[in-house]
Amino acid sequence: TFTAIVVDTVDGKPKAGFRQLTLDDLPDNDVLVEIAYSTLNYKDGLAVSGKGRIARRTPMVAGADLAGTVVSSRSPLWKPGDKVVLNGFGMSETEWGGYSRFQKVKAEWLMALPDAFTLEQAMVIGTAGYTAALCVDALEDWGVIKPGDGEVLVTGAAGGVGSVAVSLLAAKGYRVTASTGRPETHDYLASLGASAFVDRASLAEKGAPLQKERWSGAVDSVGSTTLATVLSQTVYGGAVAACGLAGGADLPATVLPHILRGVALLGVDSVFAPMAKRERAWRTLADHLDRAHLAALTTVEPMSKLPELADAIVAGQIRGRVVIDVSR
Ligand code: NAP
Repeated sequence: TFTAIVVDTVDGKPKAGFRQLTLDDLPDNDVLVEIAYSTLNYKDGLAVSGKGRIARRTPMVAGADLAGTVVSSRSPLWKPGDKVVLNGFGMSETEWGGYSRFQKVKAEWLMALPDAFTLEQAMVIGTAGYTAALCVDALEDWGVIKPGDGEVLVTGAAGGVGSVAVSLLAAKGYRVTASTGRPETHDYLASLGASAFVDRASLAEKGAPLQKERWSGAVDSVGSTTLATVLSQTVYGGAVAACGLAGGADLPATVLPHILRGVALLGVDSVFAPMAKRERAWRTLADHLDRAHLAALTTVEPMSKLPELADAIVAGQIRGRVVIDVSR
């Protein structure tokens, strides 16, 4: 047997706990993976703490990410010994996920571990880091940001998506302003490449629909009034890549930035992003994510600590990225 974190429904509410599973308990998917590491994303925090209804059926093994080694495969796409990574594809929502020593997954959800990274580094990146890369790619595709030209804002900067976005953008030569509610993280964010700071409270206030133009582009992991303010401060023709809701799922905004300044709101989803987009995002990470930064934003924790870590990430207390060692 091996240990997994399983979400059940108790009195109509999701409740997570440790459970012993056997290989026979796993779903009937083609590829058996021995998981080395998973990770802690905001969504995992909601799932494990029970503060969000992430599992859409129960029992559900939590964990939106996994990295490990193929043990056996009924698909010709993979063979025993292959090192693989899986981000999303419904894991922890409709498909059993990565908080387990073993998992059986669909062959087409897996990506080969990029040569540039170890299994542990792939999970330092995890869904949060790969989403940051999707956001950077989206802004560059829109064509509004050019290295050395204008300021790019990252909200929720000290969190997982934010930390990786700051590092990637700075490495690509952008001037990065970090918005955080934790002044004690300024040195850390400066070490990742942020050159200026904005207090997150100033963005969270509801303000005028058109404000002084400041941001050529932005990566937003906060949503709500923060995203509305960021849109109202984006320069003529600029764009904001929105991926998160750490501050709320609402968007109390007007159309004015869009219709008077041509500002674009680019939606970014990681869970069902097609494989070509994923591979490109991982190439962006391989080419531009500074390995010293990657080390600086890493914490490794045993799976046994997940209940308390889940509460901490939902409370906004986690800095950078937490890798989960599923063997402990
Ligand atoms: P995280 O590590 O907890 O980072 C979130 C950060 O947001 C926090 O560190 C904090 O940054 C800030 N924050 C937290 N609560 C806030 C509040 N009430 N008001 C304003 N700011 C607040 O989480 P993550 O894993 O990076 O995920 C960030 C967000 O992106 C989440 O909403 C997550 O669901 C979303 N996400 C979406 C996708 C997708 O596919 N679209 C993929 C990954 C993540 P500071 O302390 O620096 O202020």
